Amino acid sequence: MNIEKFETFISDYPVFEYRIIDTKEIKAAARVRSICENECQRFNSTWACPPAVGTLAECEARIHSYPHAVFFSSVAEVSDIMNFEELLSTRRAHEDLTAEVDFFLRGEGYETLTLSTESCDICEECAYKSGQPCRFPDRMHPCLESHGVVVSEIVEEKQMEYNLGGNTILWFSMVLYRERNIENGK
Ligand code: SF4
Repeated sequence: MNIEKFETFISDYPVFEYRIIDTKEIKAAARVRSICENECQRFNSTWACPPAVGTLAECEARIHSYPHAVFFSSVAEVSDIMNFEELLSTRRAHEDLTAEVDFFLRGEGYETLTLSTESCDICEECAYKSGQPCRFPDRMHPCLESHGVVVSEIVEEKQMEYNLGGNTILWFSMVLYRERNIENGK
């Protein structure tokens, strides 16, 4: 990727921090998937969640089929960090930002895979529940956790901020990218 061009692009957006990651460094962790399965109400209810995203091994192979990724955060401020609804309402701006990063990379000629926050909520009722294919596969972003990605470990390894304290929240996304037409082993 042309880093200079990417930096020019990203400087127009409210990205808090970003790193370019070699995806070989990413391991899909079973413990993250078990949180999906045991603690998330969206488990088995959308195309963006396990088990629809595939097994942990399939997710890891999918990640590794894209050699590089842009991993980034944006920050949002709320009036009360304990107010979950208010906190979640800040997610949309981060998702829009994530879509812009994805759009930029696609425009540069790359194939991308975007992993973002929470599960997909584009449709009021996910088509998964009625056994129909995803209506917007190009816009749908599985969450990082669905693929077993341990965000806190990447943040620590890459010396990024995980928590700014006060009434702020950091949202994280990852847009993986590869040259078009490379064998991806799928
Ligand atoms: S785009 Fe719609 S059908 Fe596809 S995963 Fe999201 S909510 Fe489900």
